[in-house]
Amino acid sequence: MQTQREQLLHISQQLASLGLNRGTSGNVSVRVENSLQPPGFLITPSGMVVDKMTPTDMVWMDFSGNATGSRQPSSEWRLHLDILKNKPEANTVIHTHSMFASTLSTFRHDIPAFHYMIALAGGDSIRCAPYALFGSQLLSDFAIEALEERKACLLANHGMIAVGETLEKGLNITVEVETLCEQYLRALQVGEPYILSKEEMLDVKEKFKTYGAWASKT
Ligand code: 13P
Ligand code: ZN
Repeated sequence: MQTQREQLLHISQQLASLGLNRGTSGNVSVRVENSLQPPGFLITPSGMVVDKMTPTDMVWMDFSGNATGSRQPSSEWRLHLDILKNKPEANTVIHTHSMFASTLSTFRHDIPAFHYMIALAGGDSIRCAPYALFGSQLLSDFAIEALEERKACLLANHGMIAVGETLEKGLNITVEVETLCEQYLRALQVGEPYILSKEEMLDVKEKFKTYGAWASKT
C-alpha cells in the first residue's frame, strides 16, 4: 500500500501527465489523520518540478502553519490550510494552472450552468474568486468565499482549485472542471450559450446523489 507521501507524489505526476500542470505550477495537499501525529496535512514542496520530486520532499504542516520537512511548503499553504480547516468533508485540495481554467479566469466571470456537469462542483455555477497575489492570505480568503457550498472555483488571472473527499475524487473534479472550462470557452466563441434554469440544475443535483453509486462499489 502506498504511503500518503507516495499518493501525493502520484497525484502530482498524474496532473503533469494529463497536462493540467506544467513546470512548477500548481500544488496539492492531503489531510493526515492518525494517532501518531497531531492533525495536519501533507503538501507539495514550493518551486519544484514534479519530475524532481520524491516522497520525502512532501512537507508536513499542522493547522497553525508550522511546517516540518527538508523543503519549503508550497507558497499556497495558507490556501490549503484554510480550505482543509473550513471544509471538514474535504481531504484533498488540488490547485492547477490548467490551460482552459486559467484562460477563463482572466475574464473574472463565474461560469454559469451552460452544461449540466456544472452541478458536479456543488451548485449552479462555478465561481471565480477575485484576484489577489499568489500565496497571500487575501487569496485564501477570496477562495474560501468562492468555495462556499462548492467543490471547485476559479482564481482570477491565475487558475483553479478543486477539493475532494479523496485524492482520486479531487483529481476527477479537476479534470471535469477543466473540461467544462474548455467547453465554455469554445461555446463563447460561437455566441451566448443557453443557460439551464435553477429547477433544471436542482434536478441534476438530485440525480447526482445516486449517479455512479454502483461503479464506486466495484
Ligand atoms: P508553489 O510552487 O509554491 O506550489 O507555487 C505554484 C503556484 O501555483 C502558486 O500559485
Ligand atoms: Zn498557482
